Amino acid sequence: MKILIKNINYLVTMNEKNEIYKNTNIVINDNLISYIGNVLDEHYDEVYDAEDKIVIPGLINTHVHLSQQLGRGLADDVDLLTWLQDRIWPYESSLSPEDNYLSSLACCIELVKSGVTTFLEAGGQHVESMVDAVTKAGIRGCLSKSVTDSGKGLPASFIETVDDTLKYQEELYNKFNGVASGRIKIWLGLRTIYSNTDALIIKTKELADKLGTGIHMHIAEIKDEIEYAKATRGTSTVEHLANIGVLGSNLLAVHTVWLTDEEVDLFKKYDVKVSHNPAAAMKVVVGFAKVPEMIEKGIPVAIGTDGAPSNNRMDLMRDMYLTGLIHKGRTLDAKSVDAYEVLKMATMNGARCALMQDEIGSLEVGKKADLVVLDLKDIATLPIYDFIGNIVYSSTSRNVESTMCDGKWVYKHKKILFEDEEEILDRIKEKSKLIAESLNISLENKYNII
Ligand SMILES: [Zn+2]
Repeated sequence: MKILIKNINYLVTMNEKNEIYKNTNIVINDNLISYIGNVLDEHYDEVYDAEDKIVIPGLINTHVHLSQQLGRGLADDVDLLTWLQDRIWPYESSLSPEDNYLSSLACCIELVKSGVTTFLEAGGQHVESMVDAVTKAGIRGCLSKSVTDSGKGLPASFIETVDDTLKYQEELYNKFNGVASGRIKIWLGLRTIYSNTDALIIKTKELADKLGTGIHMHIAEIKDEIEYAKATRGTSTVEHLANIGVLGSNLLAVHTVWLTDEEVDLFKKYDVKVSHNPAAAMKVVVGFAKVPEMIEKGIPVAIGTDGAPSNNRMDLMRDMYLTGLIHKGRTLDAKSVDAYEVLKMATMNGARCALMQDEIGSLEVGKKADLVVLDLKDIATLPIYDFIGNIVYSSTSRNVESTMCDGKWVYKHKKILFEDEEEILDRIKEKSKLIAESLNISLENKYNII
C-alpha cells in the first residue's frame, strides 16, 4: 500500500535539525515513511490532498487512564485523597472487563481525534480488554496493570501479593508484548509509593530490566506523599527510589510536582523520563513541576492528559496549550517553554519516554508513518502569522482533520474509521446511568434543580 499526501503547506519533521518543509509531499509505503519532497512518481494506491494543511508527527500522550474514561465528571472540585478514595477507587473497582473495554475504546476515540497515535497507560485492572480496544483502534499503546500491594482505603480486590502480581505481569508481557503488529507493548506498573511496598518496587525494577521494558509510576504527586515517604522511608520519594536502585532510563516518573533541585539532578544522572500533566496539576494534583529546569538539564519531559476525571478532556492539544502557559506564570518569564519546545515535548520527547525514539516521534524517512493532518482554517485559529504558535496556543482537537498510525488512517476527514462512534456514544450514556446509580450520585443536593 503506497499513500501520497500531497500539497502540504508545512510539514514539521521534529527531527534533530528541527527541519520544516514548505510546500511538500510525503509518501507512505506500508507502515513506513518512504519519501518527503517534490519528486513524485505516479503509482500510488491513495492520494490525499493536504492543500493549505499542516502535517506534524503523531502526538504522544504519556499518561492516560483508559479505565477512567467513563468516570469523567465523577470527582470535580475535590482534593486528591477524596478524589481517589471516595470516587475513583469505588468506580474503578466496580468495572467489569466489558465495561473496561467500552471505557478503553471510548478513550481511544477521543485520543485519535486529538491527534494522538501513541499513549502510555498508567495502569488499569483489566489489561486484556485494553489490548482488545487498542488492537481495534489501530494506535500504539504501552499498557500496564495498576499494581497495589499496600495502603489504607484501597478496595480489598486491589491488594495483591508481590509474587502474584509480578508473575501475572510477566505472563501479560509474554502474551501481549509486540502484538497488533508491534503496536502494543506491555510495561510494568507501580501506582505510588503509598500503595506499593519496597519489596514490590525493587522486584518490579528487576523484572523490567530482565524483560527490557518500562515502568510507569506516579511520583512526587502531592505534598502528602513526600511527608508519607519521609515518615515511612526516612526520606523523600525520589531520594528513596535512588537509594533502593530504582531510578533508571526505563522509569517514567509521572507528575513530579514536588521535587527538590537535588532530585532533579538525580533524574538527570539516571536518565529518568518525565510525564508532565498540566491540567491535573491545576485540578487535582495541585502544584507546578519544575519543567523548564528539567528541560534545561536535558531530561526528557513529555506531556500527558492524565485520566478523564482529572482533566476532564483527553485532548492533548489542550494540554500543549496549558504547558505553554503555566510555566510562564510560575517563573514570571514569558520566554519559558516556548511553542516549539511544547510541540517537541508532545512528539520527540514523548517518543523518548515511550522508549521508541528510533521508530516514532518525528517525520523522517524510515520511521513509522504516524502523523496528523491539521486544518487551521478555522475561526478560532486564523489568522496565522506563526503557525507553530497557532498549533500550540490556538488549536484543539477540532483542528485535527485526520490521524494516521502505522501507515493506516484511523481518523480521516473527521470520521473515526475503526468503530461506529454514534453507537459508542449511546453505550456510554447507558453505562453512565448505571454508574451514577451504583455510586449514588445525585445533583439534587448540589444544585437547586426544579
Ligand atoms: Zn494518573
